[in-house]
Amino acid sequence: MEIKKGIAVSPGIAIAKSLIIDSEDYLIPRRSIHSSQRRVEIQRVRNAFTDAIDELSQFQTEQETIEQRKIKDIFAVHLRFLHDRSLRKKITDLVYSESVTAEYAVSTTLREIASHFTKVRDAYISERAADIYDIERRLLRQLLGKKREDVDHLTEEVAIVARELSPTQTAGFSKRFVKGIASDAGGRTSHAAIVARSLGIPAVVALEDLTESVGGGDIVIIDGNRGIVIVNPDSETIHQYKQYSEEFAELEHRLDKIKQKPAIARDGVKITLLGNIEFPNEAELVLQKGGEGIGLYRTEFLYLNRPSEPTEEDHYQAYAETVSVFKHRPVTIRTVDLGADKYTQSKRFAPEPNPFLGLRSIRFCLQNLTMFKTQLRAILRASVLGEVKIMFPLITNIQESMQAKMILRDVMEDLDEESIAYNKDIQIGIMIETPSAALMASTLARDFDFFSIGTNDLIQYTLAVDRGNELVSTLYSSADPAVLRLIRTVIQDAHKAQIDLSVCGEMASDPEYIMLLLGLGVRSLSLAPPMIPEIKQIIRSVTIEDCNTVVRKILGMNSERQISNYLRDATRKILPEAF
Ligand code: PEP
Ligand code: MG
Repeated sequence: MEIKKGIAVSPGIAIAKSLIIDSEDYLIPRRSIHSSQRRVEIQRVRNAFTDAIDELSQFQTEQETIEQRKIKDIFAVHLRFLHDRSLRKKITDLVYSESVTAEYAVSTTLREIASHFTKVRDAYISERAADIYDIERRLLRQLLGKKREDVDHLTEEVAIVARELSPTQTAGFSKRFVKGIASDAGGRTSHAAIVARSLGIPAVVALEDLTESVGGGDIVIIDGNRGIVIVNPDSETIHQYKQYSEEFAELEHRLDKIKQKPAIARDGVKITLLGNIEFPNEAELVLQKGGEGIGLYRTEFLYLNRPSEPTEEDHYQAYAETVSVFKHRPVTIRTVDLGADKYTQSKRFAPEPNPFLGLRSIRFCLQNLTMFKTQLRAILRASVLGEVKIMFPLITNIQESMQAKMILRDVMEDLDEESIAYNKDIQIGIMIETPSAALMASTLARDFDFFSIGTNDLIQYTLAVDRGNELVSTLYSSADPAVLRLIRTVIQDAHKAQIDLSVCGEMASDPEYIMLLLGLGVRSLSLAPPMIPEIKQIIRSVTIEDCNTVVRKILGMNSERQISNYLRDATRKILPEAF
C-alpha cells in the first residue's frame, strides 16, 4: 500500500481498478510483467511494427506532390528502420529477458539508439536522433492508441491515472465508467481539473510521480476531498473508505434537499448562484442543482474533438439549446478563450514559447476576425431566445475592450442589413482576470454592463504562477493578500459604477472563500454545477454581518498562510462535513 498526496480538485471518493493513459509526450514508466504475460507483450510489439509500417506505407502512396517529396524521403528512412528485423528482435529480447511491457521495451531501446546518434560529431548523423524519436512515438501511438480507445469503449468502472490530461481528454470521459481521475501534473484551476469538477468525477492532481507507482489494473482509492491517492490499499483501508464514501454520499443527499431553496443568508440578503458550463448538456444539471442561470459558458469547448472549426449554425444550435433550458434566466456566453492549455488546434498553429502569455483568448479572436464574427453572429441570433449576455475574456487594456465592442457593433450592423433579429440591448460584460484589468476597473466599468472576476487567471497572473504546473502549485493561492486586494478593488469599482459583478473563477466554488467573498460585497457567484448545493448551504448558514467580521479580520493579515488557516477554521465551524 502506498499513499500519495496531491491537490484535491473535484470532491468525492473513488475505489476502482486503474487504467493508465498517457499523453503525447509518452513518459513510459518501467513496469514489470508476469513471465506468463511475455508472449502477449511480444505479440503487441510485432503488431505495433506491422501497424506502423502500414500507416507509413499508406502515407507514402498518399503523398504525390513534388513539395512532399522530401517528407517522403524521410519517411522512407523510417520505413527502412521499421523493416529492420534486428531492431525488432532487440525490443522483443528486452521484453523477454527483463519481463517488461511492450511500451517500455520500445521506448528504452529506441531512446538508447537515439542517444548513440546524438553523440556522433557529424551533424547529419546526430540529427537522425530526431527520426528515431519520431519512430518511437509512432510505435507508442500504436501501442497506447489501443488503450486510449479503451477509454472510449469502457465496459467496467475504472480510475484514470495519467501523467497529464488535456481538457479534451477529460471532457471525453463517461461518468458512468470513469469513477475517478488522478494525474501527476495539474493544479486546481487547470482546465482538465475544471472539467472533472463539472462532470462530478472525483479527482486529485499534482501527484508528481504517481504514474511510476501504479500498474494498470492496480486498485486505487482516489480521495477527491482530501487530495489523497492510495495505491493497492489493504482491506482495512478499503473498508474505511467505503464507509467514508457512504457518509459523503449521505451529505450530498442531505444537501440535495436544500438545492431548490433560495440562496439567502440568515439576515435575508439574497445571493445569486449561477453555473459554469462547458457544454450545452450541462445546463440541465445547473438547473437540477438549484442554479439560477449560467454565469460562464466556456464556448471554446465547441472547438474540441472536431476536425474543423464550428460553423455559425453549430454555435447557434449550442446556444439555443442552452437558452432553452433557462428561458428567461441569464445565460452568459463567453466568447472563445482558445489558447494556452486550451490549444486545440496545435496542428494548425506553431506552438508558442509562453502560451499563457501569448496569443490566447480575446487576443486570438482579435487576430482571427472571421472566426470571431461567426461566433458573435450566432450569439446575437440566440439573444432573442432568452436572456443572453455576452462576455469578453482576458481583457488587458481599454483599447482591446473597445476593439471587441466595435467588432460586436459591426456584426450588429450586418445583422441589421440582413434584417436578422437580435436583442439590441444585449448586456455586454468583460472578465476581470488580469491585474491590468483589475487596476483599470473603474475606467473599464464605464463601458460595460457587468464584470465577472475570473480568479483562476487573476491569481496566476498576479502571482506569476502557472495555474497548471504542479511544481509551483503551493504558490498558487486565492488567499494571497495581493490577490485579495485586487479583488476588493474590482468589487468596489463595480459598486461605485453601479454595474453588476459576479465571480466565476474556482474561488467561487471553494467553500473556504464564500464568507470572504460575501463580506467583500459579492452578491453573485458562478460555479461548477455539482458544487452549487454545498455553497448554498454555506450561504444559508451565515449572516452578512458574520462575513463582514471575517473580512475585517483578514484585512489586517499579511500572510497567505494565516488568511487561509483563518478561513478554513471559520468555514469548518459552519460546514464541518466539507473537510
Ligand atoms: C478564470 O480565469 O477564472 C476563468 C473563469 O476562466 P478559465 O478558467 O476558463 O480560464
Ligand atoms: Mg480565465
